[in-house]
Amino acid sequence: MNALSATIRNFRRAARLLGLDSKLEESLLIPFREIKVECTIPKDDGTLASFVGFRVQHDNARGPMKGGIRYHPEVDGNLLLPCYFHHLHITEMTNSEELQVDPDEVNALAQLMTWKTAVANIPFGGAKGGIGCNPSELSKSEIERLTRVFTQKIHDLIGVHIDVPAPDMGTNPQTMAWILDEYSKFHSYSPGIVTGKPIDLGGSLGRDAATGRGVLFATEALLNDHGKSVSGLRFVIQGFGNVGSWTAKLISENGGKVVAVSDITGAIKNSNGIDIPALLKHVEETQGVKGFQGADAIDANSILVEDCDVLIPAALGGVINRENANEIKAKYIIEAANHPTDPDADEILSKKGVVILPDIYANSGGVTVSYFEWVQNVQGFMWDEDKVNRELKTYMTNGYKAMKEMCKTHNCELRMGAFTLGVSRVARATILRGWEA
Ligand code: GLU
Repeated sequence: MNALSATIRNFRRAARLLGLDSKLEESLLIPFREIKVECTIPKDDGTLASFVGFRVQHDNARGPMKGGIRYHPEVDGNLLLPCYFHHLHITEMTNSEELQVDPDEVNALAQLMTWKTAVANIPFGGAKGGIGCNPSELSKSEIERLTRVFTQKIHDLIGVHIDVPAPDMGTNPQTMAWILDEYSKFHSYSPGIVTGKPIDLGGSLGRDAATGRGVLFATEALLNDHGKSVSGLRFVIQGFGNVGSWTAKLISENGGKVVAVSDITGAIKNSNGIDIPALLKHVEETQGVKGFQGADAIDANSILVEDCDVLIPAALGGVINRENANEIKAKYIIEAANHPTDPDADEILSKKGVVILPDIYANSGGVTVSYFEWVQNVQGFMWDEDKVNRELKTYMTNGYKAMKEMCKTHNCELRMGAFTLGVSRVARATILRGWEA
């Protein structure tokens, strides 16, 4: 099932549980604004290449829209702007079919941000953006030019109190620094226009680790509730980028045994527990987990069905589906990635008694510290890292309690607890701002 259909299905279930007015339900679903822009840049060899950039601004009832920008190739997007290629004098054409961000997926992710910021109880709405490109095939200066052209195309539709981008897959603090610099050429210097910036430009201490640290706090809250703790349990982590690697580091520092991890280079396993500091060093040197001496190579496709107590998908969406759900051995799934579990898999897993901590709560640590960063920028006052981490723990703990309350009220599992919490907060804000049923 595609990401947007899955997200809409979950939203509609929550709307029914809440007894939402049907017109309000439709209005909450339709995005506030969708932006699609053509970004043409000169490559390093002087030829031109064109890419398509998106920003979907889903909802702003609770505050400025907020969400990441991803640079990623998607093969299943429809062909966009093909006729324009003939009219432009592009000497080297990019393979447009391979470089489309799937607009449906960007839409789903923007909507998920709306519910996520509401679950986290931070005063933001939701948005998501992306450029269909393969950053690993572009040089640093090509990525810089692409980022600047994209910013030129959207600068008058984003803003410190309108829409605040952040890093996501394929983007990082340097990308945010270029957006900040380009935006500031059109407007006054505005560090609050992006979060996840380098510290030297007003980034927050603790933002880099925040999603992973939030995953740890969320996991602790769930396990404590079930009379367990991180210490001594066996974890499998799919994905070893920013989120997966910070999660692995913090889980192992807290006594958890990380028995298998994977990334795009391959998958590795050590039933006695992988030495995570040594693996981090290996990844820094070789750019991937493949070839790590302290573990055995395994088939990357089998990582999700490895024997463990806690499975943490921290990579792409839709990876847990009806094809593999029955084979999953974990008792707990912590969704560090966005929408890793298909609704079909949700049903299969809940019948098996697997407890799933949903993405819109479990990975909300990143956007929560983005909020702290934005607050620091707006106030012009920097917090120390202890304060950031303390506040993050408070938000994650409160989020868990509020989600559980909704589970009790609506007699539902955690995903619907999170959705009903997020949707009800956005609905209340919408009604207060002037919705007549
Ligand atoms: N890209 C992250 C997410 O999916 C962070 C978004 C942000 O900080 O605005 O939650």
